[in-house]
Amino acid sequence: MTDIDPTKPVLVTGGTGYIASWIVRYLLEDGYTVRATVRDPQKPSGLEHLHALAKAHPGRLTLHAADLLAEGSYTEAMAGCELVIHTASPFLVGRIKDAQRQLIRPALEGTRNVLASVDATPSVKRVVLTSSVVAIHGDNADMKGKSAFTEADWNTTSTEQHQPYAYSKTVAEKEAWAIQAKQERWDLVTIHPGLVLGPSLTTSSKSGSIATMRFFTDMSFAAGAPALELSVVDVRDVARAHITAGFTPEAHGRYITTAETTSMLEIGRTLSGAFGRRLSFPRNELPKFMIKLAAPVAGMTRKFVELNVGWPLAFDNSRTRKELGLEFRPAEETIVEHFQQMIDDGLA
Ligand code: NAP
Repeated sequence: MTDIDPTKPVLVTGGTGYIASWIVRYLLEDGYTVRATVRDPQKPSGLEHLHALAKAHPGRLTLHAADLLAEGSYTEAMAGCELVIHTASPFLVGRIKDAQRQLIRPALEGTRNVLASVDATPSVKRVVLTSSVVAIHGDNADMKGKSAFTEADWNTTSTEQHQPYAYSKTVAEKEAWAIQAKQERWDLVTIHPGLVLGPSLTTSSKSGSIATMRFFTDMSFAAGAPALELSVVDVRDVARAHITAGFTPEAHGRYITTAETTSMLEIGRTLSGAFGRRLSFPRNELPKFMIKLAAPVAGMTRKFVELNVGWPLAFDNSRTRKELGLEFRPAEETIVEHFQQMIDDGLA
């Protein structure tokens, strides 16, 4: 049981991010005081939405410089906080040139650095860490013999070479649990979203979520989509999950935070239904051998295609619905509102 004093500031790492921006906004709307860490609080663009939130909630949002790779850089901002929400970590899709540098070091060393600051900050009682369903499974083929993944499952198949993003999230979460187990002052709750979609508060995020939705505008799927199942969840529900996990005294362990499984083709159909037929929306699924042939050009490995395309995928989110009392928006609503926001921002 961990009671967080609601009058104390909440620290959110990676405040510029797609998910973190909604966490910051909801915390402010709920009346909390927020300290958001960003790499460069002085940067001329990319922080507009945070400045607007600070203006709308005077005196309750401050920005603090911190870098995942800079030891001790989170300590100052954390002083006096009881709740730390650690979201910062790169989420990149497509071709990765240097997995260590782009993904694994920031995820793993970043987690170590943030938690070293937690260890050094006596006020902290709880850390909510943004993990992922990819710390639960690596490939869709890992479903073999299961009806659905649960919080008891761990990704055992990803490596630095195969599914490096999933590997980065798995090693970072494991490290977080190992560090937490060495002490008793603060507890850890981990949130495991599927592919997060839904309207973004910023056009500057490099999140793989935004990149994935761009496939529906840049003609990537004009000839057809891969038969790829993915679990989708609304960014606003993911933000709520973090906050609820932070302030629910009994919350503990891992929480799968996905709404439902869909496919690239189904997303395309939802978009066609809402916005009319566009050439960039997929109309059919391509045979697996064709996807395999084209994989290197499309920034995928043939192994990825083999172990993911054509495999069913399912998650059991009942623990999150029951213990955190969350209900998830239907994927259709999330997808339509995400695309509408892209249109409004001139991106689609
Ligand atoms: P995002 O918009 O790209 O956010 C990533 C955040 O991490 C940004 O604020 C970024 O800061 C920060 N960051 C990256 N490298 C950093 C470094 N070296 N030092 C300090 N900050 C650094 O992506 P997102 O989708 O919101 O992802 C947020 C978290 O959710 C990540 O942990 C991700 O793994 C997890 N997640 C995402 C999804 C999804 O579908 N989006 C699903 C499951 C889990 P800058 O703005 O300075 O780059």
